[in-house]
Amino acid sequence: MSREETKIILSEAELPTHWYNLRADLPDVPPPLHPATQKPLRPEDLAAIFPPDLIEQEMSAERWIPIPEPVREIYRLWRPTPLVRARRLEEALGTPAKIFYKYEGGNASGSHKLNTAVAQAYYNRKAGVRRLATETGAGQWGTALSVACRFFGLECTVYMVKVSYEQKPYRRIMMNVFGGEVIPSPSERTAAGRAVLKRDPNSPGSLGIAISEAVEDAATHGDTNYALGSVLNHVALHQTVIGLEAQKQLDAVGEQADIVIASAGGGSNFAGLAFPFVYERLTTGREIRFIAVEPAACPTLTRGAYGYDFGDVAGLTPLLPMYTLGSGFMPPGIHAGGLRYHGMSPLVSALYRKGIIEARAVGQRRVFEAAVQFARVEGIVPAPESAHAVRTAIDEALRAKEEGTRPTIVFNLSGHGHFDLAAYEAYLAGRLDDVAPEEEELKRTLAGVVPVAEEA
Ligand SMILES: *Cc1c(COP(=O)(O)O)cnc(C)c1O
Repeated sequence: MSREETKIILSEAELPTHWYNLRADLPDVPPPLHPATQKPLRPEDLAAIFPPDLIEQEMSAERWIPIPEPVREIYRLWRPTPLVRARRLEEALGTPAKIFYKYEGGNASGSHKLNTAVAQAYYNRKAGVRRLATETGAGQWGTALSVACRFFGLECTVYMVKVSYEQKPYRRIMMNVFGGEVIPSPSERTAAGRAVLKRDPNSPGSLGIAISEAVEDAATHGDTNYALGSVLNHVALHQTVIGLEAQKQLDAVGEQADIVIASAGGGSNFAGLAFPFVYERLTTGREIRFIAVEPAACPTLTRGAYGYDFGDVAGLTPLLPMYTLGSGFMPPGIHAGGLRYHGMSPLVSALYRKGIIEARAVGQRRVFEAAVQFARVEGIVPAPESAHAVRTAIDEALRAKEEGTRPTIVFNLSGHGHFDLAAYEAYLAGRLDDVAPEEEELKRTLAGVVPVAEEA
């Protein structure tokens, strides 16, 4: 393989055989708590909604976890994904930095989310489950799970945030193509949905409400389990194929990452790219910077609090130790729907708490400016979520130019934006607003966050 290569492609034989579990190297992350008793969660507490293998992975401290052969077989449909040297972007910026992006948009779901959807569907099938219930915001996760359920012969019920259901009919149709049933949330199907509708019949919905509905659906039906597309340890685990491949690809062209960048909603695509590099930093001591990029409208790491909070609005989920804006936080309707979540993966949160990773919040106008610039030179229209990483990669490359440094920047292009053209239209027409939550509102929603008892 030559150093001049633009697109670094691994053979199928080089598809990773194991996922990397960061918990092995972060042993002191506080445990999740039972929502009612507030005692550390036991595996059996999760048995009503998750299959045994995923519960084990959620709590495992094993460093390398084998990827089952049926999952690898499906991964081979689109993995290993390319790592691309963004030479034309480098040239346009006039930067001495080298910029690489890992492209996760080349599968049926159009995003990285299929990496965990396939694994979750597999383990549920193995446990004899008949149907999976889930929520989706912008639609990427619902699409990924619909695809994965179809591969493993499961039914799929998707509670879709109502405002997205109405604004993104094509996402709903995608899910229908793969046999997913899509229900606008809040709905009349669940007690959680009915409670919200009673308070506000015109509620646009939120990811937190939709999670409550899907969890309730799973908990009240014996043949149905729940699947979450981000935040949890097992989801982060499954996504590490991204970073493990990227390491091999950099290796193949004699490069080493200096700055690793990904957008962060619930933290899964960031975890997927970054965790294997965190391991590299922990084991080699080589300085690598990590930047998690979030929207200014939903600034979980940069303006949230670290404490125990629910993953949903109704308080049905375990209490997770994480950075959060409060489970009652209702993010403004920005276009990067996949980043509108109040919480953050406990593992990503722990890395931030320890100062191992940095976080940055950016406004959507600068995000779309970067997305369009990237599209015009590299020929891929990024998902608005991924465009947060594009923005930050460009900013770091421009900074390198100013400072005369030559870092190797690797970012996650977590998905394509083909279903987000309305957002691009709004940007091109100058109709995008930069929004950020008021201090007063954050004070109110953060009040319910329970501080983590720190070790003395
Ligand atoms: C869902 C999504 C995200 C945000 O979710 P994470 O769990 O933080 O990765 C980012 N990019 C794309 C393309 C998505 O679909």
